[in-house]
Amino acid sequence: MQRLDSIREAVGNDQIDKLLPTLKATEKQIIFVCYNQMGNPNIRNGSAFYTEKEMLENNIKIIVYMGTTEDKQYVAVETERTPAGSISMNLTECMKLEHAMCDIIGFGSALIKFNQRFSYCPCCGNKMKYGGFGTHMDCEHCKNMVFPRTDPCIIVVVRHPTEKKCLFVRKSIMPEKRYTCVAGFLEVGESVEECVTREVWEEVHLRVKNVKYVTSSGYPLPGANQIMLGYEAQAIDSEIDIIPGNELCEAFWVNEEEVKQAINESKKPNPEGKYTVPPTYIAHQLFQYWVNQM
Ligand SMILES: [Zn+2]
Repeated sequence: MQRLDSIREAVGNDQIDKLLPTLKATEKQIIFVCYNQMGNPNIRNGSAFYTEKEMLENNIKIIVYMGTTEDKQYVAVETERTPAGSISMNLTECMKLEHAMCDIIGFGSALIKFNQRFSYCPCCGNKMKYGGFGTHMDCEHCKNMVFPRTDPCIIVVVRHPTEKKCLFVRKSIMPEKRYTCVAGFLEVGESVEECVTREVWEEVHLRVKNVKYVTSSGYPLPGANQIMLGYEAQAIDSEIDIIPGNELCEAFWVNEEEVKQAINESKKPNPEGKYTVPPTYIAHQLFQYWVNQM
């Protein structure tokens, strides 16, 4: 979602129970994005959007302002009951949905989970209160203020040192024949470029150079609110070595034709042969970027 303003500019710094009346006072349509008590979206016909009437019928427990676009205002809502005709899906399942829908669902889920998990102050243990319509939590006892956190992760498409090839990897937990890029969390005190170099070394024992930023993706994946920072890097060596017991079970070089084919297969409902993660994943976009550079 392309957000045009912050909460303060949109509706002022007011109390949570005044959110809906304040939003209604504007001309813009209010979209309710609905979640269950786990922070997972309730989906009906590929959408997590509901009307105010439906939300009130199912008892709103948490409501958080998300943002305003040119013609709409979005709020994330946790309801006590699942709206009629909808099912709760986890965020991984949601990545099959349309890209713009994934974007909004992921953002709202991060806000709802934040509100669910920080009802008590991590410093003094007292009950916390909504600040800024649920976009942060305040402790009146010790004056602690908590904002939703984002954990930086790198993801990198690795080029072969001499040939027109790039690296495909597969984690043991991923389906067979589905490939992605090397990825991992930034550690404290590390630069993003150092993180890229370390992760490639740890996962496949290749040294890299020419680490360059390509793109980013803000999808919060299950369990963590991540910002994925997409990079490219050139391998210095070509001999891959996976450490036994490591999270990867496969890593190998693929040529341009194989990458193109895997990208195409990933767009089919039932891919055949090697395929990449779906187009909504940043790894897919990095492989496409690599092909475009050829
Ligand atoms: Zn406190």
